[in-house]
Amino acid sequence: MLTIGVLGLQGAYKKHSRLLNRLGVNSINVRYPNELDRCQALIIPGGESTTIMKLMDFIHIRDKIVKFSESRPIFGTCAGMILMAKKANDPKLETLSLIDMEVIRNAYGRQVDSFTHSIDVMVNGNKETISGVFIRAPRVLKVGKNVKVLASLNGDPVFVREGIHLATTFHPELSSSTVVHQMLINLIKGPVYQSGA
Ligand code: GLN
Repeated sequence: MLTIGVLGLQGAYKKHSRLLNRLGVNSINVRYPNELDRCQALIIPGGESTTIMKLMDFIHIRDKIVKFSESRPIFGTCAGMILMAKKANDPKLETLSLIDMEVIRNAYGRQVDSFTHSIDVMVNGNKETISGVFIRAPRVLKVGKNVKVLASLNGDPVFVREGIHLATTFHPELSSSTVVHQMLINLIKGPVYQSGA
């Protein structure tokens, strides 16, 4: 049985596990570096990117995550996406630089400006519409040439893939669709299995 870790230091990590269990995948909260050894993929959840970064460095898991990313998929939602970016517009943030993109934190305003919007994703050549929940979401300003944009909203990428890594500006774990998590599971077998991209 596959095990996918969810970085459980701060933020919205619990709902990812429930969704993964629905897809028949085992899920563990990763709170210590050696717990990564049991995982075939990792989710970095939403929350507060600066706090998650500080806690990541506090438990000395940064280098281990970067090493993990060389052979196993990582999926970041919202704050997790910010941490995966090559560049974020916040000098306090030292990101993991796993996806070649530049992001702006809190680009849509404050907590009250959070919103839900339908998002179209291509899956196996078919369009799937999912409900995207945006909570103080980042905006993707620029993506590198190897980054595939899997979904956009008003011209801004909201779902991207580079190689075996995925990131969303929204929270797919808060919608009823399992499409994004299923893509992560498929990526454990490598990007060649990933369609629609
Ligand atoms: N605004 C948060 C940040 O910049 C991200 C919000 C979220 O993950 N929902 O870190």
